[in-house]
Amino acid sequence: MTYGMNDTNNGSLDLLIKQLSSLPGLGSRSARRIALHLLTNKDKLMLPLAKSLEHTADIMQHCMSCGNLDEGEICRICRDPKRDRNTICVVAGVADIWAIERTRSYKGTYHVLGGVLSALDGIGPKDLAIENLLENIKDNNVTEVILALSATVDGQSTAHYIVDQIDNEDVIITRLAHGMPVGGELDYMDDGTISTALRARGGM
Ligand SMILES: [Zn+2]
Repeated sequence: MTYGMNDTNNGSLDLLIKQLSSLPGLGSRSARRIALHLLTNKDKLMLPLAKSLEHTADIMQHCMSCGNLDEGEICRICRDPKRDRNTICVVAGVADIWAIERTRSYKGTYHVLGGVLSALDGIGPKDLAIENLLENIKDNNVTEVILALSATVDGQSTAHYIVDQIDNEDVIITRLAHGMPVGGELDYMDDGTISTALRARGGM
């Protein structure tokens, strides 16, 4: 008798394992372990998790203004009167907003592109929310656009593309400084990081 990859001989369980194994970072082995863990903790974990998944799926949506994920049509960052609407931080994805918000050091608003340009993956300007970024900049008297994109080839070519598209000399366009991570030892940095840090050096 041959067993398939997730074969538990139970259709529902096999489906659950298949769904779990499609999550980022999980293979079929972890998926089987999680499924078993859930089933052995049905009341404490599995049923509350199922409820939470359904509830979260129901209420969460992309903010119509910035693309962030939150409850309601406009996210709480865009609704917050204390946030500076004249400064827009452009990020590739919602996870980047979470990362920047964790620092509590940014008081402007955001714009989620939904990815970066990639010739390899066939992602062009039309696949990203660039058009409405340009509209936002025009409509909201934006004075500064911070391009918080990855220091990868795709991230940087996306940044260059956006700079070319912003046809307004009154808008200051900045990007995150690239360089030495805090606590990083020079000896362990790769050449690209060191040379970028050297180029972006500042006064003491
Ligand atoms: Zn928003």
